[in-house]
Amino acid sequence: NVFKEGLAKTRTALVERVEELITRRKKIDEEFYEELEEILIGADVGVNTVMDLIDDLRAEVKKRRIEDAAQLQPVLSEKLVGLLGGDQDNGLRMAEEGITVILFVGVNGVGKTTTIGKLAHRFKSEGKSVLLAAGDTFRAGAIEQLEVWGQRVGVDVIRQQSGSDPAAVMFDAVQAAKQRKVDVLLCDTAGRLQNKNNLMEELNKIFRVIQREIPGAPHEVLLVLDANTGQNALSQAKLFGEKSGVTGLVLTKLDSTAKGGIVIAIRHELSLPVKFVGLGEKMEDLQQFDSEQFVHALFA
Ligand code: GDP
Repeated sequence: NVFKEGLAKTRTALVERVEELITRRKKIDEEFYEELEEILIGADVGVNTVMDLIDDLRAEVKKRRIEDAAQLQPVLSEKLVGLLGGDQDNGLRMAEEGITVILFVGVNGVGKTTTIGKLAHRFKSEGKSVLLAAGDTFRAGAIEQLEVWGQRVGVDVIRQQSGSDPAAVMFDAVQAAKQRKVDVLLCDTAGRLQNKNNLMEELNKIFRVIQREIPGAPHEVLLVLDANTGQNALSQAKLFGEKSGVTGLVLTKLDSTAKGGIVIAIRHELSLPVKFVGLGEKMEDLQQFDSEQFVHALFA
């Protein structure tokens, strides 16, 4: 199971504590539920989600006449798989023919550039040709960082000077992608949040350029979120999700956080699918999200 190693910290914060609770209390009573609630909230599952989950568990315990806490574990895993949406659409929407364009949005530092590099590597190893667009012309070093990833993976980067109009970069990138007949164009964008409205306007402009040049594009708009930021990631998802046509989420740095429960909160509170999770800094450390495997990695 690919998630197992990456989820080690969350496993300690969440599952091992639940197991300890079950062995210590043995019986399911009010105090049991209270402690369970605390553990889940502590692992960033989110208050709303925890409340719903506990209500659900209570009902199930009643229905199945469970008294022994040891019998609760499989019920809890089952409920978590349910919350994560067993059959969610975790694949990427690709163009039926021609270029597939994927736009990446998200605030600075969440792992956008790294995710683009990892995904470029993934497409390349599937035999697809890839081009990157350096649309973050605002953050110092962002273009160079994308170029480092481009060299590492062996794909070209279309760029202009720092400070130039990101929509113009996208226009160039789309023309280059057409000329070279590449399969996939991965587009970085700026992630400054100091001026939300400007950023949303800029994203809209980029969106329009891509749409005009390639009908049906962008095929995906992936919002990248840092799992370490816990509940903050959820607010970012709400903010971006409403305004920028986001079609899916990438949750990074699950390997370095005990807040993996945030995946559960995000799935429960938003209707956006989690497409990928980041499980490290290397180019191979990106996994397609799979809710059953995810829960299995935690509990098995
Ligand atoms: P950007 O500003 O959103 O483009 O963020 P970067 O791609 O520059 O990433 C910020 C930092 O997070 C870098 O040090 C990355 O190596 C690190 N990072 C990105 N994804 C992951 C991940 O899945 N796991 C870990 N441990 N680190 C990551």
